[in-house]
Amino acid sequence: MRRFSETADAIAATGSKLAKVRVLAGYLASLDRDRLPVATRYFAGRLFPAGDGRVLGVGWAAIGQIVAAVGRADDAAMIAAYRRHADLGGVTQDILDAAGHAGNGVDLLEVAGSFDRIASTRGTAARTALLRELIDRCRPLEARYVVKLISGDMRIGLREGLVEEAVGSAFGRDAAAVQRADMLLGDLGECALLALDDRLAEATPRLFAPLRFMLASPAADSAEVVGRMGDEVWVEDKYDGIRCQLHRDAERVALYSRDLKDVTGQFPEVVAAARILDRSVMVDGELLAMRDGRVLPFQDLQTRLGRKQPPAQLLAETPVVLVAWDLLWEDGEPLLDHPLRERRRRLESLGLGSGFALAHQEHAYGAAALEQLFLDARARNNEGLMAKDPDSGYSPGRRGLAWLKLKKPLDTLDVVVTGAEWGNGKRRGVLSDVTFAVRDEASGALVTVGKAYTGLTDAEIAAMTEELLAITMTDHGHFRTVEPRIVLEIAFDRVQPSARHRSGYALRFPRIVRRRDDKRVEDIDTLEKVRRIAEALESNRIQKVDAAG
Ligand code: AMP
Repeated sequence: MRRFSETADAIAATGSKLAKVRVLAGYLASLDRDRLPVATRYFAGRLFPAGDGRVLGVGWAAIGQIVAAVGRADDAAMIAAYRRHADLGGVTQDILDAAGHAGNGVDLLEVAGSFDRIASTRGTAARTALLRELIDRCRPLEARYVVKLISGDMRIGLREGLVEEAVGSAFGRDAAAVQRADMLLGDLGECALLALDDRLAEATPRLFAPLRFMLASPAADSAEVVGRMGDEVWVEDKYDGIRCQLHRDAERVALYSRDLKDVTGQFPEVVAAARILDRSVMVDGELLAMRDGRVLPFQDLQTRLGRKQPPAQLLAETPVVLVAWDLLWEDGEPLLDHPLRERRRRLESLGLGSGFALAHQEHAYGAAALEQLFLDARARNNEGLMAKDPDSGYSPGRRGLAWLKLKKPLDTLDVVVTGAEWGNGKRRGVLSDVTFAVRDEASGALVTVGKAYTGLTDAEIAAMTEELLAITMTDHGHFRTVEPRIVLEIAFDRVQPSARHRSGYALRFPRIVRRRDDKRVEDIDTLEKVRRIAEALESNRIQKVDAAG
């Protein structure tokens, strides 16, 4: 673990991507067969192979307590360390160093063994005790990286693409071949072994190892879509649910979410429907709440999210179906390189029954026809369309040009900033996160509707920080309330009822479009407008799906 940590430090210390890859490749090339997959996986930011489904189940608060206990630090010392460091890993090393904690030092495989044990141990107290034992044995630098690994963010400026390059360079293989294998296996650790043995070409999708999802690139308008795809364009609604990959064989069914987590237990009706198929398949689509053939608003689906064993009443009230649009693998045959035309035809002949629907498709020929479909989607209050090239293959994990999304720009809201928070990571030291409000026309009060992080340039954020400091009313440390003076224009994907904010609504994916210094606080939008948008969007929205079977 010492060499792993030193390598990570060296990677963090250089801004040069080439140098990062060189340092990592040198380290990986020096490892034996047991340590190579573990170290590679860790550098890719994963404790376990993707889709393996295991989690450590030790939260930030527990880690903080362990560090304080091992480093014999009181609250004041911990708070001071939190101020000095952007992440818990830095805090850990700082506290252990200050305590003169020596530690015996741990091997990478011991760390992996501990992670395995923690993941398979029940009960927070028992898991926390195991982690404490591990941290206690670590030297401070090792503990820094153990904690960084657990918190899921190494913060050493190493994207997965660079780890793929390093694996290629370590064993003299083509980076593209490593990338392809990684796309198919979803585990860079295993790819590293294949690279070592020169067997990357043998990588093939496997049931119950989820593939990364193919994503879409944004397109400005119909003309751009036709320009890129040619005259024939396949169009589906852009559904507003939860992306899902289904794997099924005679023995087992699994559902994976967009971040490749196993969510099988949450959707028993989809699992039951998949059981009665007579093929082994991998299907890509979206989970949507549906009743009587009608897609329900996202907020209904939300009642089902995170419920590991949903009670019968909830299942009856809010049934979920998998709206399928792609078939990636059938009875041992990978279909990724087959054209969408064929994948769709085979998807339709699977005989999917209830518990499934098929993404509704229209085939447009030329920009005018496509534009008409877009107008139709708008009339249904649908946020957007997904255009697909019928001759394209399926590229896992890629935001390519074979799928293009066309979004209807929604109304924006003019709001006033009422609070601000210090940012994290790159945004440390600036008030980058702002809470904002609209006016409740009935009472005249400002009511919060959301919080936004992104959208402004670094220079704009720095300038706004100065202003926010000057107009602070109360300083609560991390958060401060400010006089309502700064007017912003906010874009968002959706408005939905929410108890989180005083307005009773929350914006989904809010982003700052620009400052509206030309507007006065009296001119900001009202709660009534928020309400109108929410109602128009959620209750009058129609998404089309086709019955399966
Ligand atoms: P975005 O998150 O805006 O990049 O859009 C990509 C997401 O759109 C995917 O992850 C899917 O969950 C979703 N999506 C909705 N409808 C479709 C569709 N018909 N085909 C592909 N992806 C879709």
